[in-house]
Amino acid sequence: MKYPYTRLRLPFFALFSALSISFSACIREGKTAETTSPVEAAIPATSYPAEVTIPAPDSLSLQAAIPAESAQPVTAIANSIADAETIIARKQVPILCYHQVRDWREKDSKQAKDYIIPEDRFKDHIKMLADSGYQTVLPDQLLTYLTTGAPLPEKPVMLTFDDTSLGQYTVAAPELEKYGFKGVFFIMTVSLGRPNYMTRAQVKELSDRGHLIGSHTWDHQNVKKYQGQDWITQVEKPSRQLTEITGKPTEFFAYPFGLWNPEAIPELKQRGMVAAFQLAGKRDPQDPLHSIRRIIASGYWSPGSLHRAMENSF
Ligand SMILES: [Zn+2]
Repeated sequence: MKYPYTRLRLPFFALFSALSISFSACIREGKTAETTSPVEAAIPATSYPAEVTIPAPDSLSLQAAIPAESAQPVTAIANSIADAETIIARKQVPILCYHQVRDWREKDSKQAKDYIIPEDRFKDHIKMLADSGYQTVLPDQLLTYLTTGAPLPEKPVMLTFDDTSLGQYTVAAPELEKYGFKGVFFIMTVSLGRPNYMTRAQVKELSDRGHLIGSHTWDHQNVKKYQGQDWITQVEKPSRQLTEITGKPTEFFAYPFGLWNPEAIPELKQRGMVAAFQLAGKRDPQDPLHSIRRIIASGYWSPGSLHRAMENSF
């Protein structure tokens, strides 16, 4: 299911950010898509060999390559892309958010156990999803669906993992792979290589195995409090680092604590984030793609509780 989004991602980008177009579109469009639209034609079909490190999305020369206001092609394309109201009206895909996947310890607080799922319980969750006919989708598929109405599997689910903890690599990913599932791992880069967290090599491996790596900031500060340099420290630099690790663009973001405000959205877009994930709050009526909803799959939940929560929350 890569192709529909690959072909459509460029028009989608064009609505929002010339910088995004120039960065991401060059990388993928140059390799895979036929040039069909005026906007696509305006972009040099630079092809990046897979082993070459992808440049960070802050180069002025990239920005200069495409006029910021190429109104004519953008207007033409906009007619075929859903507006915010249409996106909000589509049925939501259930998106689950996990944190630590490990057995409970005596010192774990009652509250913490919502965020820590014992290994066997996690395995039961994933088995329930597979037995119930769910199939995992990744963010690019979700975006294609939301922006164009392209079909998804009959019972789609997205499995996301925040905060970089090691059990996501040692327990969660192998369990997903038993069922052909793919996960989305939102990495807090300050933790890379620390005890009980994933290493850079493990993150790279997850990416190589077809899972998606997204950004969860440098050190998990509340996005609503960022000013000036914070955007560089918390979004730009981590994004660049993740791209260096995976060799792929970093285009998806999860808000620490699920907290966001409308002012954050243009800042994320400027830095190449095509979608952002919160928790279970209301979506932004103007920008539902940067306020996509998830629920925390609690460590207390049986598979049945999880199933009910998925049906009730989305
Ligand atoms: Zn987090």
